[in-house]
Amino acid sequence: MRFEISKVLDAIEGRVCTDPSLARAVLDLAEVIRYQDLDGGRPASLLRLGMVIDALSRQLEEDSVPVYAVVHRALLSDADLTSNERMVVRRWADDGLVEVLDNPGDRMLEVADLLGLPVLTRVRFDGLRGRFPWLVEQPGRVLASVPGAGGPVFVAHVGGGPKPVAGDRSPVGEKLLARQWRCPEPGCALFGGGGGGGAFADLARVERAPAGQPPPSLRNGAPTCPRHGTRLSDAGPRPRSEVLAVRIGGLIRRRFVLTEEQPVMVGRAPEGSGGIMLGQWLNDEARRWISRNHIRLELRVGEVIVTDVSTNGSGIRPNGSMTESERIALAPKQSRVLAGADMVELYPGVQVGRADELPTGAPFTPTSVMAEAPTMAMRLPRP
Ligand SMILES: [Zn+2]
Repeated sequence: MRFEISKVLDAIEGRVCTDPSLARAVLDLAEVIRYQDLDGGRPASLLRLGMVIDALSRQLEEDSVPVYAVVHRALLSDADLTSNERMVVRRWADDGLVEVLDNPGDRMLEVADLLGLPVLTRVRFDGLRGRFPWLVEQPGRVLASVPGAGGPVFVAHVGGGPKPVAGDRSPVGEKLLARQWRCPEPGCALFGGGGGGGAFADLARVERAPAGQPPPSLRNGAPTCPRHGTRLSDAGPRPRSEVLAVRIGGLIRRRFVLTEEQPVMVGRAPEGSGGIMLGQWLNDEARRWISRNHIRLELRVGEVIVTDVSTNGSGIRPNGSMTESERIALAPKQSRVLAGADMVELYPGVQVGRADELPTGAPFTPTSVMAEAPTMAMRLPRP
């Protein structure tokens, strides 16, 4: 029996991030890996994170939904994990994809408060209602992952429903996220100048863009690095960014951040790093039509500019209109400003636009992050 565990862990890696614009829920990794009742397997398993992420995808009816994971440092040496799993978590930590902390305390709730994210946890935080009123006031803001027929399902602590509900960023969160922050600790993966540090620094593949910095922790009112406990210095305004999304067949497949620092290529299989690859979601006809690099997106003085770099051209759907007579052709080499709810259409049913303006409206057919997981490892409890 050969389990393709490492492929599953690679897929899960694409779904953990500390980017405030992309994360959709916060969780405590040390808690999730011990949900033994989800699969009846080992005492601790990193695959349970994948199961919870899949459940979140199902609930939000969106593919590639990332979570913000906070975890106690002890997990890096947890003997209940395999050495491979420990190495993977260490790599995520070095790349700043997860927050590994000496004392997580209520950091998970702080992140949820600053970013307005739902929290996935079974823990009840009754003592913290004063500081975080949404714990009791907002139904669906805190949800427990419990075993269900086809994998974990969510039960909200308040209201009991299954739907995670996001709130608004707190005013303090808005303020903190308007600036860039710098940690004095050399090689800090969260607030460093770029690249990771630590024992696996040579493996670090993530260059942290300033626009994707996590929210600082507030200690005695001062912005602090949650990892090092050091006071952060203000490194100027955070670069502008815009969250865009790819919708294919009516379903949002992935969100991405566009900044003024770097254009983003979208196509069947763009070369280089940072491109948005659509190939995996396309049928044969769409695959033939869409070029490897099909459109280039740029953010310039706050405007999203789309340039067709394809062989076959694209179209603009003004204000998201699906009326054919309103579709504007975008010929190869042509550029256009993408206004509010405008979508650029690379091929019928393959669209890119602002994430907030693109409703997901198709029957949900998610791509599981666990697709490579051996069914044997997933001994789901019988109903
Ligand atoms: Zn730091």
